[in-house]
Amino acid sequence: MDRQDLNHLSFEFFPPKNERETRNLLRTARRLDRFRPDFYSVTHGAGGSTREGTFETIKLLRKKGFNAIPHLSWGTDSRQEMLELLHEYGRLGISQLVLLRGDRSADREDAEPAIRYAKELVELVRATTGNRFKINVACYPEVHPEASSLAEDLLHLQEKVRAGANCCITQYFYAVGAYQSFVNSCRAYDIRVPIIAGIMPISNVTKLVDFSAKCGAEIPKWLDQQLQDARDEPQRLQELGTDVVARLCRQLLDFNRCGLHFYTLNRAQPTQAIFKRLLSD
Ligand code: FAD
Repeated sequence: MDRQDLNHLSFEFFPPKNERETRNLLRTARRLDRFRPDFYSVTHGAGGSTREGTFETIKLLRKKGFNAIPHLSWGTDSRQEMLELLHEYGRLGISQLVLLRGDRSADREDAEPAIRYAKELVELVRATTGNRFKINVACYPEVHPEASSLAEDLLHLQEKVRAGANCCITQYFYAVGAYQSFVNSCRAYDIRVPIIAGIMPISNVTKLVDFSAKCGAEIPKWLDQQLQDARDEPQRLQELGTDVVARLCRQLLDFNRCGLHFYTLNRAQPTQAIFKRLLSD
């Protein structure tokens, strides 16, 4: 595979919490930069909890020459605060956003959220800034945990796209069939924007299993079995993770050259290993 076989490539980071993590993040960005990503995105913590951290990380990455774009979830900010943040991002020269509803943070459960659904944030950005920003939104091949059915979830995704989203990025998954059937369903609902596959490299089995249960991403039985067998052998787990995820990426590219968005968890090695494998195919 060549890099140009990919219509889109992006790497997701979260805001570092201290100087050591910041140095590590910059090192990661430098190492991943050789794959020429379209952008690096920086998450915005649940309930708006990393508002400042996200902003500062974006500023730092851009200052160092990396094309970083922010995730934005409304959290508990006022409408005015949200508009100011958008204005600040515009001043930094940012041309793309990832807009999300976000989940409530455990320590702010009593706070009243400003919006109920991401669509409202898409509407706000379009109403106040026109076509200034390209808008990416989230979607869920294995159905968002709060949705009562795939059909309901697709209807809401359709509304979000009609409100002005230009591109969807999926929750991660390990069954290529989940993505293929989701893309076909999207097209049946007249959702025509690109659907970029979210890719989660495998490194820590316990965390992956816990997080997957929360966000509704399925770990297929065949994979779970192999992960449990390798969980206490770091080298074996690393090789298994690289094999499984590189094969998934290859199958996705064969299906529709969709583009890939890596949830890097701020680590270069797992993503690099997958990419090297893909490029050597
Ligand atoms: P929505 O699109 O609002 O959907 C949420 C649920 O509401 C779905 O079940 C949907 O079907 C339903 N729904 C939508 N509209 C309606 C309606 N009108 N009536 C009834 N139900 C409706 N979280 C963060 O906190 N920070 C991040 O930076 C972040 N980045 C992410 C990046 C990606 C690529 C992905 C896939 C997820 C990310 N998340 C992030 C997680 C995300 O915030 C959660 O999954 C959240 O629960 C849903 O966000 P959403 O934007 O998809 O919400």
